[in-house]
Amino acid sequence: MNEILQTTADNLNARGFDAQIFNTADEVKRAVMDFIGEGKTVGIGGSVTVRELGLYEALKDKGNDVAWHWEVMGKPGVDQSLVKTLRYKANASEYYLTSANGVSSQGVLINIDGTGNRLSATFYGPAHVFFIVGRNKIAATFEDAMNRAKNVACVLNAKRLNTQTPCTKAGKCMDCKAAARICRLTAIHEYAPSFEGPKVHVYLVDEDLGY
Ligand code: SF4
Repeated sequence: MNEILQTTADNLNARGFDAQIFNTADEVKRAVMDFIGEGKTVGIGGSVTVRELGLYEALKDKGNDVAWHWEVMGKPGVDQSLVKTLRYKANASEYYLTSANGVSSQGVLINIDGTGNRLSATFYGPAHVFFIVGRNKIAATFEDAMNRAKNVACVLNAKRLNTQTPCTKAGKCMDCKAAARICRLTAIHEYAPSFEGPKVHVYLVDEDLGY
């Protein structure tokens, strides 16, 4: 057993999250699919991890109503007002899937957004929120996890989006003031939300997933 995964899961559970460990991407995909079942509403936040797992297609194939703005964003011939509509729809879904930009082994989740739709969905709205987190996202301390979120996840997302922000050349966050800055809002889940909020499931995977 990967020790840091076990420590992280124990600490997440102590903070009220439902943390579980999976050995492979296939295992975690099956667990999420089994939990959600069929005929549900599902929202997905911007997440390379969720895309790598193929959950959008698999959940739709099972008859779920899945809202994911990445399916239309930037696609030629598609009315881009649909992006906002899908973000709203995703946040009003029963289930919400995303990953995290960094997780400390003490059990704290860190996410950084440009728009904030993903962050807000993890606070309030859906009944169940799933953070699917590859081992590459886990860091020893909160400071290390924040450093990872800023200098690994945000930089790679800026490169993916071709923002031309200074990090894309420097390879680390330069705390830019550019109009194209993608890092505008930061969410820190220290403890699971109270009873009115979503049940937060943190599924840790002993494989590298996303970034
Ligand atoms: S704040 Fe600017 S420089 Fe830093 S990662 Fe975000 S976009 Fe890049």
